[in-house]
Amino acid sequence: MVEIEELTPFRFYKLKPFYKQRCTTEFVTGRKCNGLLRLFRNKGMINLKCMHVDCLKEYDIYRDCSICNERYFFDKLTCDKCEPLVVNIAHYYITIEDADKSIKKINKHYKSGDMLQSDWEAAISLNKQEKISCENKLKELKERNPVIEQFLANLIIQP
Ligand SMILES: [Zn+2]
Ligand SMILES: [Zn+2]
Repeated sequence: MVEIEELTPFRFYKLKPFYKQRCTTEFVTGRKCNGLLRLFRNKGMINLKCMHVDCLKEYDIYRDCSICNERYFFDKLTCDKCEPLVVNIAHYYITIEDADKSIKKINKHYKSGDMLQSDWEAAISLNKQEKISCENKLKELKERNPVIEQFLANLIIQP
């Protein structure tokens, strides 16, 4: 299982809020309100509210995903379409890292004579298989998604 905080470095998308600046309401006279919009909290939701005393119209603020363009309300912080991929990527990276650590540990045990050769070979092979399987899945994912490939290439953590 991947912990929530471990996902952050792998989040390759951003949910970008778009802030409307001016009110676009039209009064009955046909005049546009054009009032200044301010951030406003209403029932736990963040909205924009027109400051013009005759208007006070509220606007929802949305966030658009930088990768798939899916639109969400302001309070939403993760993209339902992209987040499952983030979870997979984090899982692959962490599994590869864990396998490397295990291999080091197993080698140390074996060298100090605490381990039978057959056990050592089996344990090393198991960890290597797991590592290779994750490396292949990562490779596939990058080939299918050039944007993700570019994002991961710029990550400091490398498997
Ligand atoms: Zn207005
Ligand atoms: Zn998305």
